[in-house]
Amino acid sequence: MGASEIPMLAVRGLHASIDDTAILKGLDLTVNAGEIHAIMGPNGSGKSTLANVIAGRPEYEVTDGDILLDGESLIEMAPDERARAGVFLAFQYPVELPGVRYWQFMKAAVDAVRKERDETPLQVREFDRKFTGMAKTVEVRSDLVRRSVNEGFSGGEKKRGEMFQLAMLEPKLAVLDETDSGLDIDALRAVARTVNEMREPRRSMVVVTHYQRILNYVTPDFVHILVDGRIVRSGDAGLAEEVEDRGYEWVTAGNGAAS
Ligand code: ADP
Ligand code: MG
Repeated sequence: MGASEIPMLAVRGLHASIDDTAILKGLDLTVNAGEIHAIMGPNGSGKSTLANVIAGRPEYEVTDGDILLDGESLIEMAPDERARAGVFLAFQYPVELPGVRYWQFMKAAVDAVRKERDETPLQVREFDRKFTGMAKTVEVRSDLVRRSVNEGFSGGEKKRGEMFQLAMLEPKLAVLDETDSGLDIDALRAVARTVNEMREPRRSMVVVTHYQRILNYVTPDFVHILVDGRIVRSGDAGLAEEVEDRGYEWVTAGNGAAS
């Protein structure tokens, strides 16, 4: 990489709290364009907090540090501005939006992202073709995406829906918060396939996961272990396997440093 290259995501000395409780305690993370990074860690270590803070969810207060997307600070930007700038978050627990039809929801979202890139809104028929084609590609049942967003969807269907949104929105940075948890093997493979197909030089992905399972299908460039609001160890894909074998206690006990 050239010295002048700007990382797609740069998290610098990030401190964040929720309800005055410090959760992230000085987190640094650099994700270059085209890379996939996995964030692993025990329950409660702050993985979802990191994902939500990158997306700008208002419950979290950033008390110090910065988050830069493609060189521009996101800190002062509202969640919708971040989304238009190219940040996508697939939620650990996708929300149901009764009465909001998936089709309309995605049309508005895709047009908003296009507008930001100085592109015109897609014609209805053109959008519909993309919508239907993408549903097929990511293997989300076509009747589901004709309904209200996530309403009455099973857990696995919601997660597949998140991959559908990812594929439709073509973000610069996708953060997937435990998109793999609770999935059966077919859904897990479908999710992994979407991630692999979305991999490209101008897109970065952060895959947050408690378990190593999805990393059998998606090979990350780097793996980071988050413990108590800080990244305590980073490595290549082999680190995930090591954690799978030896558990997080191996890292949290401090033995992880000796290799
Ligand atoms: P992870 O995704 O790694 O399991 P989270 O980011 O969800 O961890 O949570 C990090 C910590 O923040 C946990 O200790 C959790 O209990 C705490 N936390 C989450 N939400 C709140 C809240 N509303 N008030 C206080 N603490 C919270
Ligand atoms: Mg979580």
